[in-house]
Amino acid sequence: MTTIRQITILGSTGSIGESTLDVISRHPDRFQAFALTANNNFDKMLAQCLRFQPRYAVMLDPDSAEKLTLSLRSNGSHTEVLSGIEALEHVASHPEVNAVMAAIVGAAGIRPTFAAAHSGKLVLLANKETLVMAGRIFMDLIKQHHATLLPIDSEHNAIYQSLPSHFNGDFATAGVSRIILTASGGPFRCTPIDTLKQVTPEQACAHPNWDMGQKISIDSATMMNKGLEVIEAHWLFNASPDKIQVVIHPQSVIHSMVAYADGSVIAQLGNPDMRTPIAHAMGYPDRIDSGVDALDLFKVAHLDFEQPDFDKFPCLRLAYQALSAGDNMPAVLNAANEIAVDAFLKRRMAFTDIPRMIEHTLQAIGQETISTLDDVLKTDAQARVIASEWLLQNI
Ligand code: NAD
Ligand code: MG
Repeated sequence: MTTIRQITILGSTGSIGESTLDVISRHPDRFQAFALTANNNFDKMLAQCLRFQPRYAVMLDPDSAEKLTLSLRSNGSHTEVLSGIEALEHVASHPEVNAVMAAIVGAAGIRPTFAAAHSGKLVLLANKETLVMAGRIFMDLIKQHHATLLPIDSEHNAIYQSLPSHFNGDFATAGVSRIILTASGGPFRCTPIDTLKQVTPEQACAHPNWDMGQKISIDSATMMNKGLEVIEAHWLFNASPDKIQVVIHPQSVIHSMVAYADGSVIAQLGNPDMRTPIAHAMGYPDRIDSGVDALDLFKVAHLDFEQPDFDKFPCLRLAYQALSAGDNMPAVLNAANEIAVDAFLKRRMAFTDIPRMIEHTLQAIGQETISTLDDVLKTDAQARVIASEWLLQNI
């Protein structure tokens, strides 16, 4: 009998957070929700607390936290409600916690994810922005504090499963020749390039295969998501940019692949449902039920592959360039992208302005070395200012 893993879910009210709670609910003998956290979604958090009875609930927003305290008290719940960024760090590093699901969206997730690594937890990483912003610093922290890092992003989880179990980051010794990162191509894969200027946030959010939060849905439509994932793969697997190939695979059944020196290609397949990589990482090294339907290959019938179009999706090109440049460039790319996605969602600029704003911000800031989390946070703040100014001046 395994001991019960106490889990903190950073971002429990989001798409990954809800899938994580679904997996937890299937294995009460293995997992317990120790802490749940959210920005300000009071209704969902209240329902989650009443169902899972965590020790702590953290709302970033103090008003939501106060409201939650009153409602939980009147329901006889013993969950303690906290608020603010320090509280997020507290529940990510609490001594009784074994594993932390890092599923806050965007740069907002970096500090609590760092806190989890710093206290040697099993870090289940969905928040790819942490690695994009601070890849080297974060990977060093994981090593230094003997934390364990398992990828939740479906592609990286697939690569993890397809690599040899003894893989230590050395491609040559492991006989690995390349990583093949699959991408669905998003909702605009077949949309003519000259009509992209007019697409709406609703069209951009309508992903053909995956049901995800708003920000990552827009990232998938611009293919910035794949760009961020190239950077994520670089840090997780010590892969140089020329060893990471992006392949469009519209069915999203092959979640990614690893090619070997002898010509073998190992892939991980499954239905596009995040509960599979979540259950893989949460149960690791055991295989546990995730609630995902068995893959019906006759229903899938075809597996197609296409080259990515870097002219139509300049965000993918910008991400490769930022990775090759290194230093502060990926953090600038990430921050400018967050401002751009927000402005597009608020209908303040066109879909095609997203890469324009990011390219301008990268050029305006220029390359600089970063070596601490503080440097990263300063770069992030600086890039947000420049991107916001571009919006005021150009739109
Ligand atoms: P989402 O928008 O559905 O949920 C985000 C969660 O973060 C919510 O619980 C929200 O309350 C919380 N949050 C938002 N801003 C916050 C802030 N400032 N401080 C504290 N908490 C905050 O997002 P999602 O789709 O679940 O994605 C979460 C992360 O997982 C992202 O980094 C995304 O790239 C990654 N990811 C998601 C998927 C997916 O299928 N959804 C797949 C791979 C990776
Ligand atoms: Mg992914």
